[in-house]
Amino acid sequence: MVAERERIYLFDTTLRDGAQTNGVDFTLTDKLAITRMLDDLGIDYVEGGYPGANPTDTQLFSEPRMLNTTFTAFGMTRRPGRSTSNDPGLAALLDAKAEAICFVAKSWDYHVRVALETTLEENLASIRDSVQAAKARGREVLLDCEHFFDGYKANPDYALACAKTAYEEGARWVVLCDTNGGALPHEVEAIVREVTKYIPGDHVGIHAHNDTEQAVANSFAAVRAGARQIQGTLNGLGERCGNANLVSIIPTLKLKPEFFEFFEIGVSDDQLKRLAHVSHELDERLNRSPNRHAPYVGESAFATKAGIHASAIIKDPATYEHIQPEAVGNRRKLLVSDQGGRSNILAELERIGLKVDKSDPRVARLLDEVKEREAIGYAYEAAEASFELLARRMLGTVPKYFDVSYFDVKVEQRAQNGHGKEVLTTAVVKVKIGNETFINAAEGNGPVNALDVALRKDLGKFQKFIEGLKLTDYRVRILNSGTEAVTRVLIESEDETGEHWTTIGVSPNIIDASFQALMDSIIYKLVKAKAPA
Ligand SMILES: [Zn+2]
Repeated sequence: MVAERERIYLFDTTLRDGAQTNGVDFTLTDKLAITRMLDDLGIDYVEGGYPGANPTDTQLFSEPRMLNTTFTAFGMTRRPGRSTSNDPGLAALLDAKAEAICFVAKSWDYHVRVALETTLEENLASIRDSVQAAKARGREVLLDCEHFFDGYKANPDYALACAKTAYEEGARWVVLCDTNGGALPHEVEAIVREVTKYIPGDHVGIHAHNDTEQAVANSFAAVRAGARQIQGTLNGLGERCGNANLVSIIPTLKLKPEFFEFFEIGVSDDQLKRLAHVSHELDERLNRSPNRHAPYVGESAFATKAGIHASAIIKDPATYEHIQPEAVGNRRKLLVSDQGGRSNILAELERIGLKVDKSDPRVARLLDEVKEREAIGYAYEAAEASFELLARRMLGTVPKYFDVSYFDVKVEQRAQNGHGKEVLTTAVVKVKIGNETFINAAEGNGPVNALDVALRKDLGKFQKFIEGLKLTDYRVRILNSGTEAVTRVLIESEDETGEHWTTIGVSPNIIDASFQALMDSIIYKLVKAKAPA
């Protein structure tokens, strides 16, 4: 008999703390896409950012949302010496369209005096008033106790008083932050255990930074001591050395008996199988190469070189693997023969609803094709719509809708009389549909935009199917394969139903790569709409 398991809640701060990473600059589109990814993964809380503090976050909080996750706004408690009704920052936070508000407050007496320049009492009053104000607006409230562990070491009574004040005012969660990231697991465990004498563990969260590379270990130490919320980011994104990595925390909670026998989380087994994909998709969005050696999800996480290990693995994979790679959407990689590839392709085909017999020779052909294309720069993991088209073409289920028999893109720079220079872009596309020919011309704000507008200007009988198609993102990456640079283009599209998909193009020529990705996007939409050829 399995005893009832306790629930651990996962709180993602990729869009807030993760956005502090050097070189990371999320656009609104990025933030919306990452929110959807986290929601699909089964994360309980997604922290969107600081409404009112910058235009992107303000816009993000005004967007319509259909999420299961608790979308959370982040901001400061009321300023010292002000009332809650006379603090514009707090007002923006309270007005934000969010189910929960996470306040950050100082809990280290030294910081209260030196950084905040106020009294210890006033800081407690600020916590009390802010929690009350958010509760009065019907929000779920979290309080991040900044520098909690350092503060506790310096003045345990005061650090505890901050945490207790929030809890007593009705904060759902009191989150203990290791803001400097210097705490060690045994310290975290001991301090959290003290805190849970005053605040029940199912109201205590842990927010760990990775400055001693123990943010994941510190999160688990807190759980052992009673905390029931873990805060972290995808791929451990975050300033300096990053935050606790949810991509490592989630599978550990799901797959290690020490945790799964006692705890459950909002991520289902099926959602867990998307983990590697989610991790890689985030890297793709950040224009970074995924870390091959990332635990659980890295390409090398289950790779074994030829020799005795590999032959043992063929006999029984458990001999050299701590979990089944498929559980997190990764695959076993034997460098002698890639057996994983085939099962991976079959799993993908099943996921997109294409029924194929395991022994169908077309599966092997598709695998070869994918491998060949990936070798020259395609990345199908980041472009599922293009993968689906490739698979459907292999199975012969993509109709021949239209042909582009010609395209031309022109970029001109002209001097304007005394008014500097003007850059003009025009594109002409010749499309054949059956016996009809359409010649479309368009101007654009750049060559890809002009090509896109021209391509979608008049597709004859198909036009009505692509009316709601919109391009929402365009990403370019230059890959160096040998001496020749190759351009990879990823295009994200959206339609009137709110569905999103990503397509890919690869070519030494950026326009050609963009054209491939544009074509895939349109054809994917036509397939999805079941347009009759
Ligand atoms: Zn932080």
